[in-house]
Amino acid sequence: MKEIICITCPKGCRLKVDEERFAVTGNACPRGAVYGANELRNPVRVVTSTVVVEGPASRPPEPSPDKGRGPGEAGGGVTLRRLPVKTDRPIPKDKMFEVMEEIARVRAKAPVKAGDVLIPHVAGTEGNVVATRSLPE
Ligand code: SF4
Repeated sequence: MKEIICITCPKGCRLKVDEERFAVTGNACPRGAVYGANELRNPVRVVTSTVVVEGPASRPPEPSPDKGRGPGEAGGGVTLRRLPVKTDRPIPKDKMFEVMEEIARVRAKAPVKAGDVLIPHVAGTEGNVVATRSLPE
């Protein structure tokens, strides 16, 4: 019997999941039963992060949130900024490091619109990495 916390809603029920039959107890609603069984069969998560976006150097650089490795003046007439992104669907937990590595390698170009796909089929999954806000040039 595996014990997990249901993260489907803020109530956070303590679930007990039978590892052979995937039967769930401790759930206050049916969504907990689905979450508990899926969490043992095929755990998935939406991944959130940021990507580097290149823009023209005419705009003032924004402060770097990661001590100089990210946004700022990149030289060569280019300014770097960070843009929040997420996967457009939950992806298998065992693919999360691969997804983060692909996100770290991306250098998008401004302008970007909220919802733009920046990495299709990330890490070979059905999920795409999309911009969660717009970034003008
Ligand atoms: S089992 Fe239902 S009520 Fe409990 S945390 Fe999950 S979604 Fe919320």
